[in-house]
Amino acid sequence: MQGQSKNRSEHVVVEPIHAQYAIHVLKKSGIYDTSRKVFHREGLVYIPVNGKVENFKTILAEGVTNERWRYPHKYTGSYDVIGDIAIIHFRKGIDPSDLAERILERKNGIRSVYLDRGIKGEERLRSVEFLAGTDDPVTLHKENGIVLKVNISNVYFSPRLATERMRILRKSRDGENIVDMFAGVGPFSILLAKNLSVTVTSMDINRHAIDLLRENISLNRLKGKIIPVMGDSSVLMDDIHDADRIIMNLPHGSMSFIEKASSALKNGGSIHYYEICTPRDMEERMETFRRMCFSVEGKREVHGYSPQEIMYALDLRKDMATCYKNEEKEK
Ligand code: SAM
Repeated sequence: MQGQSKNRSEHVVVEPIHAQYAIHVLKKSGIYDTSRKVFHREGLVYIPVNGKVENFKTILAEGVTNERWRYPHKYTGSYDVIGDIAIIHFRKGIDPSDLAERILERKNGIRSVYLDRGIKGEERLRSVEFLAGTDDPVTLHKENGIVLKVNISNVYFSPRLATERMRILRKSRDGENIVDMFAGVGPFSILLAKNLSVTVTSMDINRHAIDLLRENISLNRLKGKIIPVMGDSSVLMDDIHDADRIIMNLPHGSMSFIEKASSALKNGGSIHYYEICTPRDMEERMETFRRMCFSVEGKREVHGYSPQEIMYALDLRKDMATCYKNEEKEK
């Protein structure tokens, strides 16, 4: 059946009368899984979530993929919202200026509209063209209870990872030593340090991103500590030892940093690895990781990227014991 995923995933199940309220609460707490759809079965409403939720009945059920999320390129007129800025993704057959005016007319808190002319280069910078409203690329974006200052013209930021960031927060614990290798303005780092007593070393090669990260540290009252470091993480990682958790959010290039990350991680520690590739390449990737003494504890499709490619999140655990056992078996 089209749009039907074979994976079973967690759903909060409620009576229809409670559905709207439950969706509101789950969205606000970042637990709502936007990659899947809400559906009705036997008089009940199934709401997709990223794991067990306190105070709600949660069951495993066959999820229904949100086609718009998985294949955004199929939909005309799609746009992202960062703070009070809308960014239109160019599609054949739509007039961006017309769409920009329509977005502003809706008066839904948007004050500027830009056209996305593509993301390029090591710093993943978005080339944007001003279309309508006020020409000011700096905005304050709120997600998961934190606020982030973002300049859409000189740093990378994607609002589409809000659910994913919340998922990582729910896996993390007080006292951890965390490294955010490609931190940008700090959406992962700030969320973690806001909610947990952790130390996060947040690296980025883009000076503007590190400047905004520093501002974002001041804008949010943090429980934990963030150490912002500007530079190339393949060099900076040489000074990191025994990390509990490493976030590798460079979906077009994480693989070339995996050896450095592995050396900096303690045995039993976790890596959250992101990559954009085809399903077949992802299978090969997981095999490579197993050979590198990682156990693959989770694989999630974050969102579609192109007709062939998907952005994946892998949860890897450094597991030297299994690795030695396998070596023994092979002897
Ligand atoms: N984690 C952030 C987020 O979710 O918004 C940013 C992710 S963005 C895809 C990747 C970031 O990695 C960019 O800010 C870029 O400047 C940074 N970057 C790219 N290569 C790097 C390197 N070798 N060392 C450190 N940072 C790097």
